[in-house]
Amino acid sequence: ENTLHIIGGGMAGSEAAWQAAQLGVKVIIHEMRPAVETFAHQTGNLAEMVCSNSFRSDDSEQNAVGLLHWEMRAAGGIIMASADKHRLPAGGALAVDREPFAQWVNDTLHAHPNVTVEYGEITALPEDGHWIIATGPLTSSALGAAIAQETGADALAFFDAIAPIVYAESINMDVAWMQSRYDKGETEEEQKAYLNCPMSKAQYEAFIDALLAADKTEFHEGETAGYFDGCLPIEVMAERGRETLRFGPMKPVGLTNTHKPDEKAYAVVQLRRDNALGTLLNIVGFQTKMKYGAQTEVLRMIPGLEEARFARLGGIHRNTFLNSPTLLDDQMRLKSRPNIRFAGQITGVEGYVESAAMGLLAGRLAAAEIQGRTIETAPQNSAMGALIHHITGGAEAKTFQPMNVNFGLFAPLEDSGIKGGRRGRKDRYKAYTDRAKGEFNQWLEAQS
Ligand code: FAD
Repeated sequence: ENTLHIIGGGMAGSEAAWQAAQLGVKVIIHEMRPAVETFAHQTGNLAEMVCSNSFRSDDSEQNAVGLLHWEMRAAGGIIMASADKHRLPAGGALAVDREPFAQWVNDTLHAHPNVTVEYGEITALPEDGHWIIATGPLTSSALGAAIAQETGADALAFFDAIAPIVYAESINMDVAWMQSRYDKGETEEEQKAYLNCPMSKAQYEAFIDALLAADKTEFHEGETAGYFDGCLPIEVMAERGRETLRFGPMKPVGLTNTHKPDEKAYAVVQLRRDNALGTLLNIVGFQTKMKYGAQTEVLRMIPGLEEARFARLGGIHRNTFLNSPTLLDDQMRLKSRPNIRFAGQITGVEGYVESAAMGLLAGRLAAAEIQGRTIETAPQNSAMGALIHHITGGAEAKTFQPMNVNFGLFAPLEDSGIKGGRRGRKDRYKAYTDRAKGEFNQWLEAQS
């Protein structure tokens, strides 16, 4: 009864198990590998890295993912402990020796007196007891179907189709303007819900040429997507005809350029608010499989986005994830079945570090509940907290797509006196990370 069951021993499940076990809770990890395989995993080890061997930037003062590293170390995380032990030289990035990295997590968990690993696929949702589902982007199809049955098919996606996300402050508002098509909406806010970037014919033609020429990523083997309707990559649309985009997501109708009311745009790129704070905007309908370097170059051809900075670039992947803003509470529990928590990539975060961080949080929250303690979810101004608040509340539910940790998720600083520009940004990031560390430490202390 007081045992914590975790389905999936990947990045999130391993970290969740470790946190709960260290707090004195008995844990059973249910892992389907190696008997049941995924197309990406190669071994039977817990915490296997499926692709790159990088945990990205380790800078905890100027980078949001580096800050997340810091918080996970402060919380005694096993993923960071193994990463630090198996670190490879990689400049400011944290790259690891993948085999011994996973082997050490695997062996350390197996050796823990509070941890048992049971091998086998779980195919149905558990009725009672304490559970965390951390089955990742490649959740087995039987369990995926069981989850979809509980949540409704619309609330569980099997692919992501991510449009690039831009920091609002990096857009040139001398070129762009706010307006919804045909000024639709009841309130002024709704009538100005979109940000518009106009293109002349010459700019449109050059943009299409660049799109067709850009480097693209192929799907992984076994990942045959068959794009769904309504989310074709923009480059595929352009391949179907040079005018397709102009009659699709870039149609110029129902809009008047407030800077040049007499000039009719040939095409318009629209952006829409991506978080409640309004600091992030996604480019509407611009899911793409362009490689990251090419993508930045092509997108900066859009008038108004010449200096754009991206919180995340676009992509399309096999990825099972929940519509967390509607389904999960801030304790990571499924609202319709509070004995089940979700953690890791399946909650709609993206990346090894983010997935492990969500495992860390779920492990602590579940352990506290089992032990009759109540703890708050991670504080909003920490990196871990910014992520959990985004996926369980701050993000727009209707357009929800997986998210990396980034400073756009952080609440702005009040009265900081910090100026804009490059210098100001450095100071602001330092102030964000100082604030985060303080609040995260307080959160940890409150649990000890
Ligand atoms: P996982 O680490 O995948 O762990 C889930 C575990 O659950 C697996 O061990 C799986 O075998 C098990 N499982 C699934 N279904 C069941 C079931 N029914 N019963 C029992 N066990 C089950 N992120 C990066 O940061 N960098 C990258 O380079 C990167 N590349 C990626 C490449 C691919 C092909 C994919 C799919 C994802 C990639 N990601 C990458 C994204 C993501 O960060 C990783 O997938 C990460 O491992 C997610 O952690 P997780 O714990 O949520 O899932």
